[in-house]
This record gives sequence, C-alpha cells and structure tokens, in this order.
Amino acid sequence: MTSSTPKQLVLVVDDDGIMRVLARATLEGGGFAVEEANDGRAGVSAFERLRPDIVLLDVMMPILDGFGACAALRKLGGGDHVPVLMMTALDDSDSINRAYEAGATDFITKPIAWPMLVHRVRYLLRANRAFLDLAQSEARLTNAQRIAQLGHWEWNVATDEVQRSEEIFRIAGRTPEQLPPAQKAFLDIMHADDRPIVEEALYAALYRQQPYNVDFRIVRPDGTTRIVHEQGEVQYDDARKPARMQGTIQDITERKRAEEQIRQLALYDSLTGLPNRDLFREQLSHAVARAGRTDEALAVLSLDLDRFKRINDTLGHEVGDQLLKEAASRLTKTLRQTDYLTRNEPDEASYFVARQGGDEFTVLLGGLRQAQDTAKAVRRILEALSQPFDLDGNEIVMSASIGIAIHPLDGNDADSLLRNAGAAVHFAKQQGKNHQYYNRGMNAAALEKLSLEGKLRKALEKEEFALHYQPKIDLARGTVSGIEALIRWNDPERGLVPPVQFISLLEETGMILEVGRWAIHKAVDEYRHWHEQGLQPPRIAVNVSPVQLRQKDFVESVRNALEGSIAGSHGLDLEITESLIMEDIEDNIGKLQAIKDMGVNIAIDDFGTGYSSLGYLARLPVNALKIDRSFIITMAASANSMTIVSTIISLAHSLGLKVIAEGVETEEQSKFLRLLKCDEIQGYLISKPIPAAEIEALLAARRGA
Ligand code: C2E
Ligand code: CA
Ligand code: CA
Repeated sequence: MTSSTPKQLVLVVDDDGIMRVLARATLEGGGFAVEEANDGRAGVSAFERLRPDIVLLDVMMPILDGFGACAALRKLGGGDHVPVLMMTALDDSDSINRAYEAGATDFITKPIAWPMLVHRVRYLLRANRAFLDLAQSEARLTNAQRIAQLGHWEWNVATDEVQRSEEIFRIAGRTPEQLPPAQKAFLDIMHADDRPIVEEALYAALYRQQPYNVDFRIVRPDGTTRIVHEQGEVQYDDARKPARMQGTIQDITERKRAEEQIRQLALYDSLTGLPNRDLFREQLSHAVARAGRTDEALAVLSLDLDRFKRINDTLGHEVGDQLLKEAASRLTKTLRQTDYLTRNEPDEASYFVARQGGDEFTVLLGGLRQAQDTAKAVRRILEALSQPFDLDGNEIVMSASIGIAIHPLDGNDADSLLRNAGAAVHFAKQQGKNHQYYNRGMNAAALEKLSLEGKLRKALEKEEFALHYQPKIDLARGTVSGIEALIRWNDPERGLVPPVQFISLLEETGMILEVGRWAIHKAVDEYRHWHEQGLQPPRIAVNVSPVQLRQKDFVESVRNALEGSIAGSHGLDLEITESLIMEDIEDNIGKLQAIKDMGVNIAIDDFGTGYSSLGYLARLPVNALKIDRSFIITMAASANSMTIVSTIISLAHSLGLKVIAEGVETEEQSKFLRLLKCDEIQGYLISKPIPAAEIEALLAARRGA
C-alpha cells in the first residue's frame, strides 16, 4: 500500500491477549492499522478516542460484555454507522439475534479462520462505504426535495399501495399514520372541488396514456390549504396493463401567492384601489358563464362622470384625483348598502365595481330577480353621486350618466355587454339623460356615425358644405344690422343636413378645424364678392367651435383669411359660445384681443347658459352678447326668464356691449325685447337662414328699391 492513503483503523476489543495478537498480525498483514482494548468498557472509550473505521468485538468479556459494548458505542455520536463485527463462540441463534439487536453489523464465529478475517473486514468496510455514500446522496436528495418542496411517490396500481417520501407528509401536514398508503387516502385530503379533476387525470393517464400533470389543493388538518403541482408516469406490465405509477408532488403555494400578488398589481387601479378593466372583464365572463346555468339576470352598468374634464382643467389634477377616489368609494358603499344586493350568500359577490380608466366606471349587478332591482341600484348610485363633494374646501356638485345592458337580453358575452352598456351611456349623454337602457338602435346609431364620419371626410373635398345666412335686425332702426353664417351640408343622399347632426362629430374627429377654416374663408369671399358688386352687404358673423379657439394658431388662421382686406373692410365678425371663453380665460383674452384688433367684432353666443363671472365679462375684449334662445322662448310665460333677459340687457349695456336676442319667433317676443331696450333681434320672425343666392337677390332688390 502507498503511504499517501492513510491506513484504515481496526479496533480489536477482546479480553484474550492471544486473540488480540493474532488479530493484529493478520490485519496489519492485510494493510490495516490496529488498536486494541482488553474489555468492553475500555473498548467503548478507545472507540470514542480513536474513531476507528471498523470494530472487532468479542462477545464474552468481563466488566462489559460485547453486547453491552456494542449498544453503548452505537449511541455515541458517529457511532451508528461504523461497522461492528462480533466474534462469538456461541453459534446459537439466540446469541446471533442478541448481537443484531445490540447493533452488530455482522458476526464471525470462533475459532476464527484468520486468513478469512481480512476479507471479511475489507468487505464490511466497502459495503459500509457504499451504504454511507447512498445515505449521503439520499440525504442530499431529501434535502434538495425539501428545499424544492418536492415529494416523490410510487403507486402499485394492482395492490393500491403508495409509497410516499417524507416531504409529501410534510406538505400534507400529516404523519404516515394519518395518511395511509392507499391512493384514496390522498384523494381524501384534497379540496373537494379539485378531486374530480385529479381523478379524471389519473384515469386518463392510466387508461388513455395521457400525460399526468395536475395542480390541486391539499387541505391540511388545521384547515389551511397548500397548492401543489403533481406529475406522474405510468409503467406497464407485459400485458400492457398499468402496473405502477411514479410521480412527484411539489408545493407551489408560495409561487402561486407571489403570482397572485403580481396579478393584484396588474388587475387593480392604483388610484382608487378598484379592480381595473381587465379584472372586470374576467369577472363578467365568469358571471355570464354562471348565469347561463341559473335563470337570474345580470346587469352591466357603464358610468361616466359628467363634465369631469372641466373639473380637472379648472381645479387641477389633484382635486380631480380626489374626486375620482371619493366617487369610487361612494359607488362601492352605495352598492354594499343596496338591500336586495346584500341578501346573497356572503361569498357570492352580487356586485362588482371597476374603474375602466379616466372618469369611467363599470358595475356588474348579479343575481337580479326582477327588473326593479337594477332600477333601484341605478337610482341609488345617481343619488349618491349627486351629493356635493367637499374636496380641499372646494364644494363640487357632480352628476353622472349611466348606461345599462342586461344579460342575456342585450348580449351573451362580456364584450358585447360592455360595448352595449357603453353605447347606452354615450346615448344618455347625448340626450342629456342621467341613465339609459341599451336598445338595438344604439349600435345602429354607432354604425351610422361611422359611415357619417367617412362621408363628412369627403364632403369637404366635394364642396358639399354651404353657408346659409340669417339676418339680424336693428330694433331701433328696423334695418338689417348683420347676417349670421350657418353651415349646411348638402348630402347627395339625404339632402340638406343641419349642423346639429354633424358639428359634434366634426369636433370629435378634429375635422372641424378644416371645416371651420373653410367657413371663415367662404364668408370673407362671399362678402368681398357682394361688396365688389356694389351690393353693400351687411357684416357676416361666423360661428367658431371651441376646438378651433383652443388652437395655438387660431389668431393666425383668422389673419390668413383676412389677407388682402383692409382692416374693418372685410365685414367679418365671430360668434363664440360663452362656456368656451371661460375655459382658459387668460389665454382667450389675448387671442380675442388680437382678433378684435383686426377689426373683427366678437359676440358671446348662447349667453346665459354658461358660467361667466361678471368680473371676467368686463375684461373680455368682446362687442356683443347673444341671449340664448331658451330665455326668449320662455320669456312671455315666465317672470323669471323676463327678469334674466332684462338683467342681461342692462348688464351688457353697463359694460358697453350690444345685445342680440336669438330665436325670436313672435311679435310678442319682439315687442318685449324692444321694451327692454334689446339692440338687435334674430329669428324666424324675421327670416330663417337662407342660401347665399337668396341673400344676394335680397341685397340686389334692396339696392334697386
Ligand atoms: P347658434 O349659433 O346658436 O345658431 C342659431 C341656431 O338657431 C341656428 O340653427 C338657427 O337656424 C336657429 N334659429 C334661428 N332663429 C330661430 C328661430 O326663430 N327659432 C328656432 N327654433 N331656431 C332658430 P342651426 O343653423 O341649425 O345651427 C345650429 C348650431 O350649429 C348653431 O347654433 C352653431 O352653434 C352651430 N353652427 C352652425 N354653423 C356653424 C359653423 O359654421 N361653425 C361652427 N363651429 N358651428 C356652427
Ligand atoms: Ca351663433
Ligand atoms: Ca345660440
């Protein structure tokens, strides 16, 4: 043997000196190192001190015999896996049993065949090494499996016996006694909902050769659940029948929980904490699937806060955010308190609220038994949201619009229900209603809108737009003081289309910029044309959309239109709605002043419907106010309207502004207005808006007269 490998140490324990000498000689000859002890107790202490690789132990010894010594050294740290070879003269089965019970690895009978001893010792050491290696790798594997929370099992299909690794018991939270080695015992500890899935998968694996791969929940004795992933493989016997199945089981609870957390982040709105549109869609899909099995109805509400953008723009985003949060919490609270909705089982959510984005929310109402249930919830929501909001000392009054789609009536899947509720809320807003049930006509309306958009795009190229003109009369003199240009669309299919049917769509799509520019140019051209003919045309007022005024280059575009005209000789005036001017007051004052400086008169249109503050009105570079038609209509019947009209007139005059009343249809209205010192009137009483050719004819006739 080489000196580089340390010799393995044999401890020989025997009270017989001759035996010790012979054993030493034999073992040293075989390449081992040898130490001796002469009784059991000395043997145990030598073992502790020397840590031999193997022990040769005589049975019959004074003080402590071989059985006692073996048992004692097995209890020492590290003493459990050193091979102990017992030497006995007693070849009876009783002694052999006692030797094994005491922990002997093997035994050898006296008298000893010395040449054999070396082989026995070598064999035992090698076997022990292999055993230790195996134990170590098993320990490593167990460790790895414990870390991976991976258990392993083997199932004998014929005998229904299952062997399970330690980790399985740990995952199951049970001892081997609590989880007997039969497949059924394991099925019994699964979550009842998952059991059919696992049974089906097992069956498919055994008899249909399908891969076995399932996730399910195990319920521990303390009631907690673990989510596990199980995988298995079937082995077949010669007759190609399933014989065994082996597999692993992994505890994936933490991973699932982490995934759940990520899901939470992805599925909830961070501002309001409400579920977001994705989660809503998912829940709605589930609800639709469930509802297919019962006869209860579902309602999807699409809710939109009215004029939220305005609050955001005027009071800032922080206040806007606060408002959204407060609205979200009112929404949830109201639904929680709506009695019919709360009578369901506690875990069966009967309502679900989500934020779709911006100022849009959606609500799912489930388990509806009668139509009134929806109506009641809608009413409660609208009521809750109409209470004033106190945000940082700002008292804000808000309102909301709700569109309603009912399953299965208005859609059979999540997407169509959402789309239809959305169409309904859009419709509600357009009609100025606070809620609206979906009906099939609405999608038709949406389609219509799409095709209308396409047609409008072409209308400009094809010169299908025209300006009609409506005169304004100076009440004191009885003369035409000006004409208002009102756009018309000459649709080859529908004929003359009034602006209410397309202006808002032009604004939504931005096409109003081009069309608005066209209108101004057209008016200026027409005026010039009439002027050149010597017709002495009245000034022409063109309506301006809010979208146009918001453009940075609006002033420039007006200047362009006036190019080539001497200031004041172009005859162009502009009408701008009141609500618009107040939107961004400082910016607008600058723009309006620049335009006024070009000799353009500016009138505030639809006055009385907006929010003008008097302070601003005094600073606005405008020339006239147009009193909204709604006041003129009610003036004769309502003292209140009359007061408003007279107040507006005197207010305007005190600010040096002219007043024009629009929509005058009767002599009576005209008389009142004259009494109230209104400067000009406009309306069907005088003339409807008429085409350019007719105006031209009128102007020519006037000159002729
Ligand atoms: P507006 O500026 O308030 O125009 C007055 C509207 O009242 C016009 O409707 C006019 O035809 C109508 N009207 C006039 N007198 C009477 C009356 O005695 N009784 C009744 N019932 N109605 C009367 P129209 O032409 O349909 O225009 C509607 C709106 O479309 C206008 O309201 C204006 O805001 C917008 N609009 C019209 N042309 C243009 C344009 O070129 N550009 C922009 N941006 N908007 C335009
Ligand atoms: Ca107008
Ligand atoms: Ca108006």
